[in-house]
Amino acid sequence: MTYLEPLYSIKVNCGNCEREFVTSRVRPSLKRAVRRDADFCSYYKEENPDYYVVRVCPFCGFASTENSVSKLA
Ligand SMILES: [Zn+2]
Repeated sequence: MTYLEPLYSIKVNCGNCEREFVTSRVRPSLKRAVRRDADFCSYYKEENPDYYVVRVCPFCGFASTENSVSKLA
């Protein structure tokens, strides 16, 4: 069985300075919680995807999320 890297890298463009940088994402297939307790506490098989939603540009420090618009108005 091959080990599936839970993280992969994608290139994104900073919404502020427009420079390209690489950021990590959690594979969508791993975003499902593996099980859920009666108290609604979720368990993830690998890294918690919530930790990787925010991206910070290494050049200017501009922070955005996966849900942000790609360019500032
Ligand atoms: Zn930037």
